Amino acid sequence: MEKPLTFSVINKLEGTLARSGVIETPHGRIETPTFIVGGTQATVKTLTPGQVLDLGGQAVLVNAYHLMLRPGTGVIAGADGIHKFMNWDKPVYSDSGGFQVFSLGMAYKKGIDLTSNSLKGDAAQAVHTKSQLTKVTDEGVHFRSHLDGGKLFMTPETSMEIQHQIGADIHMCFDELTSPLSGYEYVKKAMHRTHVWAERCLVRHNELNVDHLINNSPPQALFGVLQGAREEDLRKESATFFAQHDFDGYGIGGIFEPEELSTTLGWACSILPENKPRHLLGMGAQPADLFLGVEYGIDTFDCVAPTRQARNGTLFTYDGRLNIKNSEFKNDFGPIDSECDCYSCKNYSRAYVHHLMKANEILGLTLSSIHNERFVVMTVDNIRHSINERSFFDYKKSFLERYYGKKESARYL
Ligand SMILES: [Zn+2]
Repeated sequence: MEKPLTFSVINKLEGTLARSGVIETPHGRIETPTFIVGGTQATVKTLTPGQVLDLGGQAVLVNAYHLMLRPGTGVIAGADGIHKFMNWDKPVYSDSGGFQVFSLGMAYKKGIDLTSNSLKGDAAQAVHTKSQLTKVTDEGVHFRSHLDGGKLFMTPETSMEIQHQIGADIHMCFDELTSPLSGYEYVKKAMHRTHVWAERCLVRHNELNVDHLINNSPPQALFGVLQGAREEDLRKESATFFAQHDFDGYGIGGIFEPEELSTTLGWACSILPENKPRHLLGMGAQPADLFLGVEYGIDTFDCVAPTRQARNGTLFTYDGRLNIKNSEFKNDFGPIDSECDCYSCKNYSRAYVHHLMKANEILGLTLSSIHNERFVVMTVDNIRHSINERSFFDYKKSFLERYYGKKESARYL
């Protein structure tokens, strides 16, 4: 059978886990490390696919949970798959939606956040009480739609069926998420369940790929998703498990703070096979995440923060973040960042974007999103060049010192 994905390492950075490489998929190649643009609901919010291409996006990541609920995967399959449906003929990743099943399913009408790191408010209650709306069994997860409260049940097998109907190039295994509030024993139990589920995902995934072969459509790839929270022994056990199974690559989930990246990724990536790509799930919009992620073995990132923050007026610059809605920009006729090569910076001023945002004009969201997305994509592109040119550490130091200031950047150097 045709391979759904190949990965070649181009250069390795001695003394680190960093590497540059190329992922080949049926919809084209991805030079790594790179930032995968967030396209949760089959759209990069406020941008056309042409604009995503122009800003250097090599691939987008859609979310199976959201697309299953709306428009429904039958609609996407009816359009002949996600690439045609959203008019993006480059590589597409799909996240299993495990995170949303647990966070949104649990949060229905409760307003809580799975990533909550404190015992404040409803989060602890929802995680620990029996009244929670998400129920996990060995078979799968019972949860409720965050849209209408409808009862749903997802298993590793149904997750694979949904993702194959969507038809992305790279899928993620369905995993059980734990909260930072879960204790060691629960994290361990959830990790073991995630491993059993991963084996079930792989079986169903391989069956579905045979169907693609029969129908003359390209095969799809599957990444195993590692768990284990902040626990060294569990992270290593999870990496060892996945290294022994025939996945096309790996997703690494469940990391919450930039300070935890180096240790957590180091444990996992030093065990995972070198010849398979590694994706950091849902994290990596902060420059510190990007540099540390690459240094400790990550090839691709995804995060919706660049466009989400853009819509709030928070824009990234080499000198740190700014809020374009602040009055200081009302008469500032310079670009958002004089060193950025994006369409917004080449053609518009801070004063104009400030005006659009204050007037709630939609173009303000688009120009801001183009800039932030370009800024993050460009940063990871430059990290890739710095690996190939053996200047990674100089680039990292100069970038982070300028962005965060000398004092704060010391935490990441
Ligand atoms: Zn720009």
